[in-house]
Amino acid sequence: MSARLIDGRAAAEALRGRLAITADFFRATTGRPAGLATVLVGEDPASAVYVRSKIKATEEAGMHGLHHPLPAETSEAELLALVEQLNRDDAVDGILVQLPLPAQIDAARVIDAISPEKDVDGFHVVNAGRLAVGAEALVPCTPLGCLHLLKSEIGDLSGANAVVIGRSNIVGKPMASLLLGESCTVTIAHSRTRDLPEVCRRADILVAAVGRAEMVRGDWVKPGATVIDVGINRVPGATGKTRLVGDVAFAEAREVAGAITPVPGGVGPMTIAMLLRNTLVAAHRRAGLKAPEDL
Ligand code: NAD
Repeated sequence: MSARLIDGRAAAEALRGRLAITADFFRATTGRPAGLATVLVGEDPASAVYVRSKIKATEEAGMHGLHHPLPAETSEAELLALVEQLNRDDAVDGILVQLPLPAQIDAARVIDAISPEKDVDGFHVVNAGRLAVGAEALVPCTPLGCLHLLKSEIGDLSGANAVVIGRSNIVGKPMASLLLGESCTVTIAHSRTRDLPEVCRRADILVAAVGRAEMVRGDWVKPGATVIDVGINRVPGATGKTRLVGDVAFAEAREVAGAITPVPGGVGPMTIAMLLRNTLVAAHRRAGLKAPEDL
């Protein structure tokens, strides 16, 4: 039987509708829009596309997008000076420095310089620590989007066996923390994991965040499991073009899983929606207001 498709586009659209209402309320209450500052160093085409879509979504949600494009030869000191300026700017609630950065800039040092209260990517070590101890944190957008999809699909996750493939600071580790926070029994698998297919077959919830096209085969999936495919991989397609595929062999996994996210149209759209959400949450906290529970 074919799995249910988890429609990330529809979920993101619904969420963005709620975010727009909250953004209006924030503006009416405080007399200013919530503000997201984006910083792009250089002209990497993929990064430029990402940043453009983030700014567009910010404006569409009724927030203020302040974009700072910098030349590729920008020094680390110059970028740190801009981050400091944005930290002090009261109109800025969220700061997003688009990664990757050029080789002359140490990304970790830049992330460390962002005020944790404005760290809407959730990459600052203070936010990583807060998430790890279960305190109020700004959580990385992609795993937050995955959790939103899982809760809409399953409801109560407690007691489920969850396997996360990938241990990056951006996706794998925060995903595992979030699932633990939902009382799942969590396994983090990675490149050194022994017998990965067998580990995956124990998962009621399987999250793949690896970056290897269609690595997870259909017979790695437990019948009825919920599969969240974070991977975005470009592979050769028909007629000389390229196409996007996930880390999961979708056609095979779909025959076994209970529910599955497609690529594209699954996790991807949720990431930007969660960036808007984090910006609004940060704005409310900075203004001493309580953000709605369902954001
Ligand atoms: P990463 O390269 O930082 O981490 C990949 C992880 O996969 C590592 O922890 C590694 O141990 C593990 N891994 C590598 N090879 C493996 C193997 N053979 N078996 C098991 N584990 C293996 O990548 P990332 O930043 O976490 O991103 C992962 C994927 O998610 C990429 O495809 C990326 O493009 C995608 N991504 C998507 C979104 C989105 O919005 N949908 C956001 C971020 C990342």
